[in-house]
Amino acid sequence: MSGDPTAGVDIGGTKIRAAVVAPGGAVLASATAPTPSGGEAMLDVAADLVARAVASAEVPVAAVGVGAAGVVDPGTGEVLAASDSFTGWVGTNLRDGFGSRTGLRVVAANDVDSFLVGEATWGAVRGVRSAAGIALGTGVGGALWLDGALYRGAGAAGEIGHMPGFGDARCTCGQRGHLETLASGRSVARRYAELGGGPDGGAEVGASEVEARALAGDEVAVQVLADVGHAVGSAVLMLAALLDVGHVVVGGGLARAWDLLEPALLARLRDEPPVSGHTIEVRSAVLGGDATVVGAAALARRL
Ligand SMILES: [Zn+2]
Repeated sequence: MSGDPTAGVDIGGTKIRAAVVAPGGAVLASATAPTPSGGEAMLDVAADLVARAVASAEVPVAAVGVGAAGVVDPGTGEVLAASDSFTGWVGTNLRDGFGSRTGLRVVAANDVDSFLVGEATWGAVRGVRSAAGIALGTGVGGALWLDGALYRGAGAAGEIGHMPGFGDARCTCGQRGHLETLASGRSVARRYAELGGGPDGGAEVGASEVEARALAGDEVAVQVLADVGHAVGSAVLMLAALLDVGHVVVGGGLARAWDLLEPALLARLRDEPPVSGHTIEVRSAVLGGDATVVGAAALARRL
């Protein structure tokens, strides 16, 4: 087992990616396709991508790991919850669905869990004892690596995007004041518009454009992104108080604006250090778009 490659799959809202990953973490082959609508169709496409990646890698794989959007039951492999944009996804059984389609042993986890396993196995927090993973994408995802292993709880452990205490804005989940209302790409765009940023009042400006404007010196854009850093810093302090994690890895599309987020994040940690006296090291993710597939493949190595 230890010498055989494994396959990893990243099932996201816009695309599905599969890769064959060597025991040392190298991607030997990969294949990507747009995400179709419906759970069974998503499984069909994902299984086909695994087959294509295995065929082009020209090596047998021992098992497959699936990192999927949504809350995934660690015991059964069933998708327990997902955002509204995933039609027919809740209730899909990833383990059975993949097992029957590929004939391989399957482990299924949340995509941010897989991202953190990737970064903890071969990336920015490799070799650390305990770390939190934060994915700042369209939404905000989180995951926990405790004492050298992924901690999943009943499937939603580490979901910091939906921690309360971050103002009063309505969250995508329907509740108010969650971290995601300040620190997601969607929220960055919304807040920039609310604050009337830019010569056009900020309407219809996406997060990547807010980032570009911040780099060009737009004060509202700079403030909105600093608010992200401050909010994430507060979330990190809560994680540190609860779990004493010494490392945090931050990834996702919004983390491309790292230089704009990091000063406010670090200032937050400096101003209110954990009662433990332990320092918290915050690192930017290094595996980029591969983190989830290689992390899922790393989970499969543990089967
Ligand atoms: Zn929420």
